[in-house]
Amino acid sequence: MTGANKRVVDVLGNVYELEKELGCGGQGTVFAVKNGNLAVKILVDRSPARRTHLRQQLTQVRMLFDIKKLAIASPLEMLKPPYVGYVMELLTDMVPISKLINPPKNINCLVEWYLEGGGLRRRLLLLARCAETLAQLHGKGLVYTDPSPNNIFISSDVKNDDIIRFIDADNLQYASSSSSINVYTPGFGAPELVTGKSGANTLTDAHAFAVIAFQTLSLVHPLMGDIVNDGEPELEMQALEGKLPWIDNFDDNQNSTTQGLPRDIVISPNLRILCKSCFEIGLKEPRERPGIAQWAEKLYSAANFTICCPECNSTYYANQKNCPWCHYPRPTFVQVRIQRWEPLQGHFKEKTPLQGLALTSYEPLIVTSRIVNGRTGVDSHNHNIELILEEENIKVRSLNGQCFWLTSEGNPRVEKEVGDRWVRFPVRSENYGSWLLHFGNLDYSHRVATFNLISGENV
Ligand SMILES: [Zn+2]
Repeated sequence: MTGANKRVVDVLGNVYELEKELGCGGQGTVFAVKNGNLAVKILVDRSPARRTHLRQQLTQVRMLFDIKKLAIASPLEMLKPPYVGYVMELLTDMVPISKLINPPKNINCLVEWYLEGGGLRRRLLLLARCAETLAQLHGKGLVYTDPSPNNIFISSDVKNDDIIRFIDADNLQYASSSSSINVYTPGFGAPELVTGKSGANTLTDAHAFAVIAFQTLSLVHPLMGDIVNDGEPELEMQALEGKLPWIDNFDDNQNSTTQGLPRDIVISPNLRILCKSCFEIGLKEPRERPGIAQWAEKLYSAANFTICCPECNSTYYANQKNCPWCHYPRPTFVQVRIQRWEPLQGHFKEKTPLQGLALTSYEPLIVTSRIVNGRTGVDSHNHNIELILEEENIKVRSLNGQCFWLTSEGNPRVEKEVGDRWVRFPVRSENYGSWLLHFGNLDYSHRVATFNLISGENV
């Protein structure tokens, strides 16, 4: 079936005219439906047994939970024979995330293509959303079973960085019942799935996601180094079975590669730690692999520490001295450190910040509930506070009707309430000392932000 101008009919008799092919995997193909926010998945296997199995799966998925609250394309109706498949809700103008991983063959410049796809920050934020959705599924005792770049869809608008949908809802399984399921997309199956030692579980989901994240950021498969790409086909199998070191293993570089973007530009230090655990000890010891929730947290944090280049408008990590894409010097920015504050002792609970955010004068910084109180899931994206840098002053206001407090540690100590009107304060001041923005009542333990002005590199 080629899709264009084809029609399929669902069990209720509704007719769907199929348009372009959206994605194709081992199990089937997904087509957009003309005039509607719908897509149709048609399975390769048309046997009556597969139909019965699919019907059971979809009935089960509908009963599982309120699927509409998650970024999963909800299944609607089964198709009538001769096809085996189903109709699902899918926003128009979505493309598989593989579009950010596999550059077309005829491109002149890989970096240009990377930046045209929204660059680093967009990739981090979209991946963070994907990890968040998988974490929500895992939190409900479900396993997705087959995450791959062909069944995660993103908005085709490169300005959008928060719309994602997992298709293939028929893959969802209860963690307890999935142990016998051994479905994976080649390249994304965890070694224990590839070798048949285990069925799908949350840790195999975590491996597949880690590969997708690494590839989306650096444009190279973490296990496919030069000896695999240039060697015998058996080496590829060995790599996917976890028998070779990953490409960035500093202690054993036999499978290293010069392919892909430089890792220090696209993989933050915290993401590097997750990759290392996943692709070193985690290849053989699934339990050592970082869980999906950690990926969500570190991906959001990495995105928050990116700044926008005033010269080329691309985004990069604020720890770089120059824009890695155009080499324009990094502008002045404020490092916003988030820490826990203990009111009784009047000091920080831990010295190491929970997170660092970057604020430049080129764009406002929106502080969400994830940062203010460590929320996860849907509520974590609520906007709480807006910060704007104007030369060496910061303007701050509340965005959610709640009051926050700004205190200075100088002498005399100053305390200002931050409501929906802008409050301005100097990032550094001899009179006031450093400022703290309290995210909670001063009498209770809460998170605070501190501000450190980092001068720009000379132009
Ligand atoms: Zn630049």
